[in-house]
Amino acid sequence: MGLKRNYKLNVEFGGIWINIVLCDYLLNITVSWCTMIKKWLHKIMLLLLLLLIGSGLANVTVAWEKQGNDAYSMTDFELFEDANGEYDFAAISSAVFTNQFQHYTKRPISLGISKSVFWLRFPLPPNDNSEGAAKQLLQLNNPSINKIDVFIPVADDSSAKIHYLIKQLGVNRPSANRDIMDNSWLVSIPHQYVQGQYIYLRLESISLLRLPIMVWPDNSFMSAAFAKNLSYGVFYGVLIAMFLYNLFIFFVLRDKTYLFYVLYIAFMFLYQFQTHGHLKLWLDLAYPVYNALFWICLAASFISSIFFTCSFLQVHIDEALWYKIMAALVGIALLQGGLGICGYSLWANQIARGLGIIEPLVIIALAIFRLRQGFRPARYYLLAWGVLSLGILAWILVPNRTAAATILAIATASEAILLSLALSARFKILRLKEMTLTHHMHYYRDLSLTDELTGLYNRRYLKNKLGHELAKSLRDDKRLALLILDIDYFKEYNDSYGHWQGDQVLIRLGKVLLNILDCSQLAFRYGGEEFVVLLPNCSDDAAAAIAEDIRSEFQEEKFAPAAHGLVQVTVSIGLTILKPNDTVEVLFQRADKALYKAKDSGRNQVAVL
Ligand code: GH3
Ligand code: MG
Ligand code: MG
Repeated sequence: MGLKRNYKLNVEFGGIWINIVLCDYLLNITVSWCTMIKKWLHKIMLLLLLLLIGSGLANVTVAWEKQGNDAYSMTDFELFEDANGEYDFAAISSAVFTNQFQHYTKRPISLGISKSVFWLRFPLPPNDNSEGAAKQLLQLNNPSINKIDVFIPVADDSSAKIHYLIKQLGVNRPSANRDIMDNSWLVSIPHQYVQGQYIYLRLESISLLRLPIMVWPDNSFMSAAFAKNLSYGVFYGVLIAMFLYNLFIFFVLRDKTYLFYVLYIAFMFLYQFQTHGHLKLWLDLAYPVYNALFWICLAASFISSIFFTCSFLQVHIDEALWYKIMAALVGIALLQGGLGICGYSLWANQIARGLGIIEPLVIIALAIFRLRQGFRPARYYLLAWGVLSLGILAWILVPNRTAAATILAIATASEAILLSLALSARFKILRLKEMTLTHHMHYYRDLSLTDELTGLYNRRYLKNKLGHELAKSLRDDKRLALLILDIDYFKEYNDSYGHWQGDQVLIRLGKVLLNILDCSQLAFRYGGEEFVVLLPNCSDDAAAAIAEDIRSEFQEEKFAPAAHGLVQVTVSIGLTILKPNDTVEVLFQRADKALYKAKDSGRNQVAVL
């Protein structure tokens, strides 16, 4: 059996590609003469036509394109779509099927999402297959393919008879079937491979059947795999770091937005780990479990990202339109997950692909909306989802699958970092808001408890404080003194010098009180020119001394309400000490009585009851 070589000629004429097999100059013995003559006639006619056209001849491609790193990337193959999965390898490799295979010329190489079984055939690029030479590795760089059967034509040294080695790979197959542990599917081509003969692939998959197929010399593959695995390490490392960092912050702050972010990153990590084929390498789960886990992670990462967005960009039920859109997205994600788990994978896949495009667009629209409303952290959010959308766009459009996967991985990692930055920016702004709010709260609380004129506490605060201090003193068996002060003949003063001058007297009495009292003793302006002082934990003598100090110091104050001379103003003080059965009312009335006593006894004095 000699060498069989296929050179393919791609001719572009008037925008139409015509693929012609130029020559099969050694024929497979299974091809009947009849078929062969028909085939040659067909080809010769086409060739003559082309020669007549002459100028239509544009370029020539072979099935493999050599890459910089000694690897070959497949550009052309022959395809047979078995829509019902009814043929086996014996039938497919028989002469009957020779002409059923079509050249596949679409770019990028993708067989879509389909229930069909796809049969591919192609010869490997030429190689030194002698013992000791570098072995060839056939690589299918799509970790999500469910079933891959590889049929390699081999011949023993002793006999020229070809038989086929079969390798069964794919996520539905046990990991033990692999020749080499890598996240892609690798088949080591044996030395006995008959060069130029078709290798057959049988493919079945529920996910999008993109087909980056390569052939590597094994030593080049190892160095490329090292770089690849290092990049995956960095990618997963970024996701894990973002996960742990924000999980820690969640435990500190107990803010649910962080929890949603952490869940989103966790599910996205699991989803990525699985789609890039690493989960299968680490854990050889039974296919039903593997499949269910895939749909759960995908749906959960959609749902957690929607919850995260609603929490971050503050979507509430009263904002009907946004709320409904978000609820609809959650519904679609649940439906997709449910369909996937129940086995309707083709439907689930189509929905997931749609959601993968729509969701970032909706989030971007919402972020722009919020930004226009003045919510500044939405900037980072917008940037994060914008970057991810570009990654997804690249994933769809870039024909080089390795480049597309790298761009998507960089976009995903950048999204995780930018979302974490968005969280920090949001936290900073919310904290600033909270601080301003607390400041305002304190300010207004102080304002509501303070007397505007004297800066002392007001009557409202006395109402709260007196009951509280009384209960505390009775409970702790401590003393409590209450003083009521009333300025003497104040009406006369007002009448003589005016209310503005009267106010200066009130202010001065406030200052005297603050001067004499320490921080545990409290002074209130109770009414117009009446003041109250509370002296907690103060002995009777000390209380009497303080009252006397107030009276005498105020007496010393000199006022100049008019141009001629200084005026003296005095204050009368009623003092009482808390008794065991006192209520607020009883205590207050007794102090009031003491004040009247002081007034009746001639004013400018302290009376105790
Ligand atoms: P007595 O010695 O008996 O206390 O005589 P009095 O004139 O001080 O009598 P009373 O305590 O009833 O006087 C209250 C006066 O206090 C009436 C009013 O003119 C004055 N007053 C009440 N509130 C204010 C205020 O906010 N500013 C000023 N300037 N005067 C006030
Ligand atoms: Mg009075
Ligand atoms: Mg008075």
